[in-house]
Amino acid sequence: MAKLLLAKPLVEKTTENLKKRCEKLKEGGITPCIKVILVGEDPASKVYTRSKKRLGEKIGADAEIVNLPDDVSVEEFTTTIAKHNSDKNVHGLMVQLPVPSQLSGVDIQSLISPEKDVDGATEHSLASIILGSKGENSLLPCTPSGIISLLKFYNIELVGKNVVIIGRSLIVGKPLAMLMTNYNATVTLCHSRTSNLMEHTQNADIIVTAIGQNSFLKACHIKEGQTIIDVGINRNSEGKLCGDVDFDAVEPIVSAITPVPGGVGPLTVLSLAQNLIETTEKNFS
Ligand code: NDP
Repeated sequence: MAKLLLAKPLVEKTTENLKKRCEKLKEGGITPCIKVILVGEDPASKVYTRSKKRLGEKIGADAEIVNLPDDVSVEEFTTTIAKHNSDKNVHGLMVQLPVPSQLSGVDIQSLISPEKDVDGATEHSLASIILGSKGENSLLPCTPSGIISLLKFYNIELVGKNVVIIGRSLIVGKPLAMLMTNYNATVTLCHSRTSNLMEHTQNADIIVTAIGQNSFLKACHIKEGQTIIDVGINRNSEGKLCGDVDFDAVEPIVSAITPVPGGVGPLTVLSLAQNLIETTEKNFS
């Protein structure tokens, strides 16, 4: 039976630490403040933004969801971002994706000040990772940062390990590949055009799936002793939340695995809170 890499103990421990740091900032007269811009009524986005607000408040920060209508104009959208960028009482700013089609041509990340980029998604933040940072010079993208924290928490070594990441998005796969490289792992980044995916996954020590397909990674892809990190958030035919891994088939074979829900998901939100405290300490106090 595999060890379950649960987020809960890490979330509890880190939340306590963040609460203390937030308290200290408040004693110095600064209340960390995050604004999450939500455009429209997408149900999943509403759930994600609410969980960000909840954790922000739990650590003692000000956390506000800024609701904009589904048909917001490009001008109003960019003006809203500019307003919060220049507000010295706002320390973290992010836009919940996806946004409606009229905003698809807007380079959202370039509008956000790098020091308020709690999502770690601006060019500045991504470039810092390519230049070798593990978070010293910029804020790290939330899901990759959460995965690194989880591996550290469970003492899963990255140095010299073969890591296979499936999925090359800008929010997960690509920055995670760079970040893990900075931790001295040997990383293979796979995608929909990868041939012989199975050859890659069977040679890995650690496999990360970030695809968005229920039960994609099966017993035939894996071998004993591996660590499996399942980033996917999907619904199966019964509407139940599940990841990219065929958990029932894979879990009995591997050494360690993240469940869905309860694995990577809560760490993404945790990283956001961590980024908020870090940037407030570093750039605003
Ligand atoms: P994207 O849709 O942006 O990217 C999906 C990636 O998967 C692409 O690189 C694509 O390849 C690759 N892919 C698709 N099909 C295959 C295949 N058959 N074989 C190999 N690779 C394939 O997804 P995201 O990165 O935004 O999200 C991925 C999943 O992670 C989703 O379920 C999402 O909900 C979840 N997620 C979870 C988070 C969390 O906190 N747990 C945070 C962010 C995302 P190609 O580039 O060639 O098209």
